[in-house]
Amino acid sequence: MITRRELLGGTALATAGLLAGFRFQDAPRGTGGLIPASPLHHPLSQDKKLVPTESNIEGPYYRKDAPFRSKLATGLKGEALKISGKVLSPDGTPLREALVDVWQADKEGAYDQTSDAFVLRGRIKTDKDGLYVYETIMPGQYDLGEAKRPAHIHYKVSAAGHALLTTQLYFKGDPWISKDPFVRKSLIIEVADKAGTFDIVLAKA
Ligand code: FE
Repeated sequence: MITRRELLGGTALATAGLLAGFRFQDAPRGTGGLIPASPLHHPLSQDKKLVPTESNIEGPYYRKDAPFRSKLATGLKGEALKISGKVLSPDGTPLREALVDVWQADKEGAYDQTSDAFVLRGRIKTDKDGLYVYETIMPGQYDLGEAKRPAHIHYKVSAAGHALLTTQLYFKGDPWISKDPFVRKSLIIEVADKAGTFDIVLAKA
């Protein structure tokens, strides 16, 4: 059993893979215990800061100026899904008023590319604790050549003093994950009881 001290102290061990067991409740002093445990593991860098969330491709379907709302799928059929999380600075400070801009395919894997309704697209601002939450439906997979892209939700996240992050979240257990060239392990979340947590760490600008 490797202790946390050994993990944090061992240069050779200070890799994302070996630190993947780090959870927010293990966060260093100074984060005030505000940071919840998360299924998304944010390893610590050697200076004991949270490692920023990995970026991921934007893809061709982003549309700017989506409405501000936390219910993205009103009136749509699909498997209900609630995603929440915190937006954090690398020192663990929750970022209030951060902008979380999300977009996704419907259950058939299609994006709304033209309508004024901005279906399955929305912007959410974090609250005073850096928390965001939205309700949606599970996105469908869509064709990528002869394969399919695993289900995913796209994100653009920004906050004052921090670098814009473009990324995606994926869902554990999706059979296409292992075949998709874009998936990053750190971006895979688990869904339980129709809910998942996706915390985001933004690099300083
Ligand atoms: Fe996509």
